[in-house]
Amino acid sequence: MPLALGIVVAVSEESLEIEKIRLEYEERRKDLQTLLDSSKSRECQLIALYEESRKLWIAGNFKALSELLDAEGFHYFRELKEALQRQGEKVVDLSEKLGGISRNLEKGIVCPKCDGVGTVVLEKRYERSGGQIIPIAKMQDCEFCRGSGKITLRSS
Ligand SMILES: [Zn+2]
Repeated sequence: MPLALGIVVAVSEESLEIEKIRLEYEERRKDLQTLLDSSKSRECQLIALYEESRKLWIAGNFKALSELLDAEGFHYFRELKEALQRQGEKVVDLSEKLGGISRNLEKGIVCPKCDGVGTVVLEKRYERSGGQIIPIAKMQDCEFCRGSGKITLRSS
């Protein structure tokens, strides 16, 4: 039966596309996790360096402080403080992005085909009525999300 076959193909094409989107999101999550891990460990390094530098500063051992900072590519103590602050902001930013992606994977995304509306314009034409032109749109449920406006990315 060609008709039944046609329906089967259409459905699996959609699930393939959803699967592709899901894999993209999982890839993105993996990349973000790697980036977050390395950013956190860099932050730890900077914190340790900051603590060591602070001790030298308090002790008035400016020669050792200068040598320590120099070895890490910093000219001034202030530069290290700024780098530490930037690193902290980066970690927060990456954590938020990762949280967003994880939520998408868990709770789904807005359907990219209908933009979450749930319906799509099948056909649009214009009719003259008196002196007016009236647009007439034929709508149908979005096939991609089956009218729900959302795509579930959870792997079943
Ligand atoms: Zn849709």
